[in-house]
Amino acid sequence: MNNKRTLKNQAQSPASSVKVFVRVRPFSEKESSSNPKLVVKIYDEKCLIFDPKVDEESFFFHGVAQRGRDINKKEKKNMVFEFDRVFDENSTNDEVYEATTKSLIASVFEGYNCSVFAYGATGAGKTFTMLGNQSQPGITYLTIVQLLSHLDAIKDTFNVTVGASYLEVYNENVRDLLHPNSPVLQLREDNGRVTVAGLRIDPINNPQTLFTLLERGNENRSQHPTDSNAESSRSHAVFQVHVRMVTKSTGQVKLSKLSMIDLAGSERGVATGCSGLRFKEGSNINKSLLALGNCINALADGLKHVPYRDSKLTRILKDSLGGNCQTVMVANVSPHAASYEDTYNTLKYANRAKSIKSKLSKNVLTDVMTIPQYKRLVEELRTKIAKF
Ligand code: ADP
Ligand code: MG
Repeated sequence: MNNKRTLKNQAQSPASSVKVFVRVRPFSEKESSSNPKLVVKIYDEKCLIFDPKVDEESFFFHGVAQRGRDINKKEKKNMVFEFDRVFDENSTNDEVYEATTKSLIASVFEGYNCSVFAYGATGAGKTFTMLGNQSQPGITYLTIVQLLSHLDAIKDTFNVTVGASYLEVYNENVRDLLHPNSPVLQLREDNGRVTVAGLRIDPINNPQTLFTLLERGNENRSQHPTDSNAESSRSHAVFQVHVRMVTKSTGQVKLSKLSMIDLAGSERGVATGCSGLRFKEGSNINKSLLALGNCINALADGLKHVPYRDSKLTRILKDSLGGNCQTVMVANVSPHAASYEDTYNTLKYANRAKSIKSKLSKNVLTDVMTIPQYKRLVEELRTKIAKF
């Protein structure tokens, strides 16, 4: 019997696409005061028009039949986009969580890797969606609450250990946000699997620990004001919950990882009026997001070669995109005309991500002799010997 631990992908399920959602934020107070024009119009729960034409009836007569096409380039873009769901400016974090992320919790406990990431330009609402505020906790908090209550429900059948890590990719450097004094982290690749060497996974014993870790990590993020938004972050933040489940009766081990990712702003460097260090940050962010876009394109086209290696972010997200992972993308957009290009680019990016298909498989450790398995083997051998 080979006792080497091998991570085997079991139970291949049918191709499953990345789920893509769009959330339109409300106008800020400042924006509202100048009687702004909307650059997006939500048609129904799944359908949104970018740069809508005034004559809607005739537009829809022709438009719905040609979804996704640029119908009238000369006057208005008038593009109709369809997503798994579109959230309007009145949507709450609770609603967004329920529709986008809640269903992933069961998958995590079945042994699937799952990821939720917020994409969009600075000021579009990524951090509001992922972290929220005191009165409206974001997806990350709501997920943790659900995850820990699920743990309680399965404790008779499984021994479960949960840990958390929180890292940041800033200027192509990877930092441990929970242990800010540790050196810059390096990525290692072993048999195609990328790990972040030295990233510490802190054990979680109760919900409070998770919240404390999340808060601590947030305080250690590299936050710098930009012209677009004083509170924006120029870093990509990846919060991960690591779950290890052992079935009490069989000793079977399942490993899974839930990643919640607040990406840095997707706008172009020049749009934020950056120079010097800020510009360097901008170009690195663009490098990472450009690489992410190229990976999305390659995955959407079903290409064999996906250029994960082109940036730190895409190497880290290798198993969070298209690989052995269920992925949710929440694309955040502003409805204001000042964000016309950014909103358009985000919608196109999100539209592309819809086409990603991936083969899902559970992470089940095989060939591991656990004590119950040893006991069963011994019993079997005893029975055989008794028969001689
Ligand atoms: P990003 O992280 O994409 O740069 P933020 O999440 O910081 O953007 O949002 C920018 C501003 O807009 C913040 O003041 C935030 O509170 C507000 N905001 C964003 N989305 C919403 C929303 N859905 N409802 C209410 N306020 C929002
Ligand atoms: Mg932010």
